[in-house]
Formats: sequence, structure tokens, C-alpha cells
Amino acid sequence: MSDQSTNIQQLKDKISNFVKERNWEEFHNPKNLSMSISIEASELMEIFQWLDIKESWDIMTSSEAEHLMEELADVIIYCLSLANQLNIDISTAIEDKVRKNSVKYPAP
Ligand SMILES: [Mg+2]
Repeated sequence: MSDQSTNIQQLKDKISNFVKERNWEEFHNPKNLSMSISIEASELMEIFQWLDIKESWDIMTSSEAEHLMEELADVIIYCLSLANQLNIDISTAIEDKVRKNSVKYPAP
């Protein structure tokens, strides 16, 4: 069981161990992982596909709440696995991108 203090490296290590223990590393190449991120994102979107905006805001009190969290986790798991395989420091990547975004989209 994790909590809000679990950091990105701990999650990356947990996913890396999970993959290694199952000898899945050959399948977790960058091409397959990038495709898997998109596939899982589509599964996430499918939950919202026919909902109206109000229903989408109420998703966490619906019967789909657990499903939503699972698909969100799937997206993030594959993102972290891709970062593992390519030795990407996610914190640095995010901080750099937010910095670029702040230049591209300055606050009014
Ligand atoms: Mg899924």
C-alpha cells in the first residue's frame, strides 16, 4: 500500500521490478511502450465516451470510479516504464516542459 508521499523514483523502481520479475523487458521496448500509453489513454477515454459534461464531473461518485483509477494508473505505469527504459528523469522532463510552456503561454 502506498501513500501520497511515494515518490516518482519509488514508483519507477516498483514498475521496473515488476517487469524484471516477469521477464517482460524484451517487450517493454520504447515502440511498444509508446503504443501502450496511447492504448491505455484510449481505454481511459472510453469511460467518458458517451457521458455529458456533468456526468464526467461526477465520475468519481459513479460505479466507474474504480475503473477510471485503473486506466489512469495503466497510462502512468507505461509512462514510467518508458522513462525507465530510456533513463529519463521525469521530474526534470516535467520541470523543463513547464518552464517552456510558461514562456510559450505567459500568464496574462
Ligand atoms: Mg487498461
